[in-house]
Amino acid sequence: MELDSTLDTAGLRDIPSVDALMRRASVTARLKEAARPVVLEAVRAAAEAVREALRQGCGVTSREELLSRFDRYFQQQWDTMNRPSLRGVINATGVILHTNLGRAPLAEVVVESIAAVARGYSNLEYDLVRGGRGARDSHCEYLLRDLLGCEASVVVNNNAAAVLLVLNTLADGGEVVISRGELIEIGGSFRIPDIMVKAGALLREVGTTNRTRLSDYQAAINDRTRLILRVHPSNFKMIGFSERPGLRALAELGHERGLPVFEDLGSGAFVDLREWNLPEEPLVRCSIEAGVDLCAFSGDKLLGGPQAGIISGRGDLVDRIRRNPWMRVVRPDKLTLSGLQATLGIYRQGLERTQLPVLRMIASPVEGIRHRARSFVKRARRALGSSMELELVNGFSAIGGGSAPDTRLATVLIAVRHPECSAQELERRLRAHEPPILCRIEDHRLVMDFRTVEHSVEPAILSCLAKISSGFSVDTR
Ligand SMILES: *Cc1c(COP(=O)(O)O)cnc(C)c1O
Repeated sequence: MELDSTLDTAGLRDIPSVDALMRRASVTARLKEAARPVVLEAVRAAAEAVREALRQGCGVTSREELLSRFDRYFQQQWDTMNRPSLRGVINATGVILHTNLGRAPLAEVVVESIAAVARGYSNLEYDLVRGGRGARDSHCEYLLRDLLGCEASVVVNNNAAAVLLVLNTLADGGEVVISRGELIEIGGSFRIPDIMVKAGALLREVGTTNRTRLSDYQAAINDRTRLILRVHPSNFKMIGFSERPGLRALAELGHERGLPVFEDLGSGAFVDLREWNLPEEPLVRCSIEAGVDLCAFSGDKLLGGPQAGIISGRGDLVDRIRRNPWMRVVRPDKLTLSGLQATLGIYRQGLERTQLPVLRMIASPVEGIRHRARSFVKRARRALGSSMELELVNGFSAIGGGSAPDTRLATVLIAVRHPECSAQELERRLRAHEPPILCRIEDHRLVMDFRTVEHSVEPAILSCLAKISSGFSVDTR
């Protein structure tokens, strides 16, 4: 395609074809380094970025300018594609168990334990005492038994898998009784009714959305019933006219009728949040004590460990679960088991639970956060002068991860404003930083919450703000 070398303003039609762009020197050089489809993808993305810039009226007026823009976008695209895509970020959103940001950050000793197992060989399935084949389950089971007072435990990849595995093992071909108020959906399209179908079990809903009585369960039990299911509605809260039987009463009913009672707890809380004056989250230990036969919960929610699903309870039921062929499909790897073992070890020591970042962040008093935020603002004002406005405002952090939905933690936010830059643009530039800094926009302002920010990364945030304030007029796209 021939182009005039000067244009009033370039239009979409002035962008060369993808074939023509593939012949540019900047692109052919890359064809020596990478497969053609990969280069093609970068070319397409860069062409799209040029198109978008033209649509936004970027005022490109010559062919050279248009092509040099393409080269710049192509280079950026190339750099992005050749950088590891999964990497660490700074979470300044104040959402502690942010599912999009990998949920629980791990304690230092947990990371060290994972690294030690990752680096070499381990006794994953080797019994060092007897000198023969061992069980991968053994590594966490003793700790779980001790911490929860249960007979047995088994670990799988995540709690969704744990729930599926329990339902399939105990209720395949039979009915499962559950309250209508507990037919929940949690993030990532995990819906109890769908899981039930995949487990081969028939859902037997009882009660109404807001009220279910013990007599509703009693009336629904028949000779096809295999299991009573209780689900902790972890991501929403029912208030007002609502009722469901206590766990103990439900467990007794199950035992009377010879039916196991299984509870999906979602978050596996091992410590009582009321210690920090927060609303109660059910403790795994209390469910076991109440007589529930099996519980399932996540390793990376309130427990504060690696992604895992943990099933704890009666020994004979756990044995049946172990023998289910699906167990082989959902079994965890050595890194998970090592991280979980080390996390549970912290609880077992009992003393330094605040070694766990999740609990430390939940327990952080607002005064401590205010102090850090104030000191950061002081340093930032010194470094940035008046080019950016920083201000402390009161706000709330969240536990997140579908845990404790009604729990708001008072915090102090740092609101950042730039006279020539919208909150959205500021947010984008912080996100484009390396490491990316993720913030919230609240009341049209960009805000950072230091509850979820480690002290050690504050200088990185400051230097990013400095770069943004000095380079504002430069288009960093
Ligand atoms: C989070 C949650 C799950 C799923 O747990 P994952 O570890 O994310 O797989 C299942 N049930 C409930 C009630 C939950 O809150």
